[in-house]
Amino acid sequence: MSDPSTQLIHHPYTPPAGFEAVQPAVHKASTVIFPSVAALRSRDWKHKTGYTYGLHGTPTTFTLEERIATLEGGRFCTLVPSGLAAVVLVDMAVLKSGDEVLIPDNAYGPNKAFAQAELASWGISHQFYDPMNPADLAARLGPKTRLVWLEAPGSITLEFPDLPALVAVIKVHNQSSGAHPQGTVSALDNTWGAGLAFNAFTLGVDVSVQALTKYPSGGADVLMGSVVTSDEALHHLVHFCHMRVGYGVSGSDAELVLRGLNSIALRYAAQDAATRQLAAWLQTLPQIETVLHPALPDSPGHAVWKRDCSGAACLLSAVFKPEFTQARIDRFCDSLKLFRLGYSWAGPMSLCVPYDLPALRSVTAWPFQGILVRFSVGLEAVADLQADITQALARA
Ligand SMILES: *Cc1c(COP(=O)(O)O)cnc(C)c1O
Repeated sequence: MSDPSTQLIHHPYTPPAGFEAVQPAVHKASTVIFPSVAALRSRDWKHKTGYTYGLHGTPTTFTLEERIATLEGGRFCTLVPSGLAAVVLVDMAVLKSGDEVLIPDNAYGPNKAFAQAELASWGISHQFYDPMNPADLAARLGPKTRLVWLEAPGSITLEFPDLPALVAVIKVHNQSSGAHPQGTVSALDNTWGAGLAFNAFTLGVDVSVQALTKYPSGGADVLMGSVVTSDEALHHLVHFCHMRVGYGVSGSDAELVLRGLNSIALRYAAQDAATRQLAAWLQTLPQIETVLHPALPDSPGHAVWKRDCSGAACLLSAVFKPEFTQARIDRFCDSLKLFRLGYSWAGPMSLCVPYDLPALRSVTAWPFQGILVRFSVGLEAVADLQADITQALARA
């Protein structure tokens, strides 16, 4: 072994054991090295008892999975490369040809789009339901219903649903003779609550997914998702599907989320307080028809939010008075200097996006005429954000 290229690749040095630091070590691997053929042959990639291949986990990703499971109050976590991949993984793991999935009408748009395109082409049907009306969900549950998506609050419009009531409807259906032979699973998109505003498993949900892209990262610089369960059989359904579809995450990305996670509760509380302050202030402005934010008494679902939640995240939506035409709204958004135009939220920078709401609804009516602008509040000073909105309104 005299050639330097061989010496460098097969270097004999191993650093002393016992190193400890605040942050977990960052392990990066496609190949994981086995000590013997016997070890290679007896590898088990299904139960997280060892290491087999980078796709199936490293000490870094296992560590992050345990911390996210703790954050959510669940027992098992599987990491995936984005929040959307977490939604898709649950769909792929649970649904088979001939099954049906029910999705809230105000759900995260790409969740609906995946059902309308891929799931439909795989022989899996879907219906959208009114999440603010448990009776509407009850009426749509049938022997084909294998999965019900929940989201709290609704994407963009922030109506807060009665999760325990929706879960109770599913549990009653599961006891009936008209239930799916394998039962109906409830899955919550818990990105907004982040495991901090409420405990999904205490409220009776079977699966909780999060875009770690949002609060756990907090940096607007990494994409990742998680699927958490408390039930071991359900976890294996998700986890084995995860092995087969190749949804690995990188050690560097896991490092960023592990770093952000340390301050998640502080960031959540700070952005929550700033958002409530801005929401209350916006509601007093003559240009605004209404402000949608679960902590505001007039916002849909406020009473159940108050009953079930201890926080309200960083999102608010303002519905403008009808005289604010699309052109005026565009000028308002273009005039903002601190609120930048862009998707996602829970990062350091405040963001805004105008939405065409009627186009996003199919089974529920959108009650307002004016255009809606969704604001995501970052970590800037509230007074500066107010001044920014004031100057942009003057230009609109
Ligand atoms: C952002 C978001 C997702 C998707 O997360 P990505 O990591 O961007 O794919 C899913 N659900 C909700 C509610 C989100 O806000």
